[in-house]
Amino acid sequence: MINRRKFIQASALGSASMILGKVATANTPPLTVKGKPLVISTWDAGLEANKGAWEVLSKGGRAIDAVEKGVMITEDSMNCCVGLGANPDRDGYVTLDASIMDEHFNCGSVAFLERIKHPICVARRVMDKTPHVMLVGQGAQQFAIAEGFPLEEQKLSPNAEKSYREWLKTSDYKSPGINVEKTQGGGHGPFAPARLQNGEWNHDTIGMLAMDTHGNLSGSCTTSGAGFKMRGRVGDSPIIGAGLFVDNEAGACVSTGLGEEVIRVAGSHSVVEMMRYGASPEAACKKVLERIIRIKKDKVKDLQVAFIAVNPKGQVGAFAIHSGFQYAIKTTTMEKLVNANSFFKSKPQ
Ligand code: ASP
Repeated sequence: MINRRKFIQASALGSASMILGKVATANTPPLTVKGKPLVISTWDAGLEANKGAWEVLSKGGRAIDAVEKGVMITEDSMNCCVGLGANPDRDGYVTLDASIMDEHFNCGSVAFLERIKHPICVARRVMDKTPHVMLVGQGAQQFAIAEGFPLEEQKLSPNAEKSYREWLKTSDYKSPGINVEKTQGGGHGPFAPARLQNGEWNHDTIGMLAMDTHGNLSGSCTTSGAGFKMRGRVGDSPIIGAGLFVDNEAGACVSTGLGEEVIRVAGSHSVVEMMRYGASPEAACKKVLERIIRIKKDKVKDLQVAFIAVNPKGQVGAFAIHSGFQYAIKTTTMEKLVNANSFFKSKPQ
């Protein structure tokens, strides 16, 4: 967990020490993990999700099945800001986005999907059963129902209800924050892609990448998007090439954080292209974040974006703009949560 005061100090420090085009980078050596099979996923919820993926990977199953099964665990958890337990949009509705991609460039996604518990499974069905890549809104819901997914009740979880009520007091819709602080009554800052909740870092997204025993890569991503977003807002997570991209010959990448900034630079695709031309997973993530930093200039002090990546050799890496981003790794020999390197640094406690 990260101490908020330290985090804010670090952000201030970060902005002061940032000279355009030249940013201070945390000095931790890159963590290189190599293995087959392996699974990595964003944030601390990734630890549990990885276990789900491992049930498939450890039996020699396909990476695509592993990444679907893994993130379903997070979608199931009503205490997490992913899935139907998450924060609503500013009109009070939870709307979900998800995407999935395999080693053959097969991909599927759903966006602005309501009242369906497992958007990742609907994304998989879009991939497997339709000639399309993406379905949105009512059409996505209709498809889900036709595929036998139950239509859940339109009801906020107790946590989301509390946060929403708090937010409604001001209905303050301002620019996004970094891992925004907890506010009175357990609410969060508006439009926060990652934030403190009940004293713990929380987030709206889980992204997962896996390599199976055959060396094939796949990825998945599922999210409620940004809390208290405008109705109809869709972030990077369901957009292939932005929130997720997999190319079995070059690598795979998934993002978290402020989706608008990831979309602008076709984030995950850009990371994979860097790996294609020889960058390590961590270096590739870092390079694309540098692009965002150049574009956003001094506004970068208020926004968080992070990428995790894996290359065809089974090496993994990650990078974030601000500290506080963690990712979970599971291989045959290791299972742990790692603090990703970042441009602007505060020490996790
Ligand atoms: N990337 C997600 C979005 O912007 C949010 C997140 O990662 O927490 O929709």
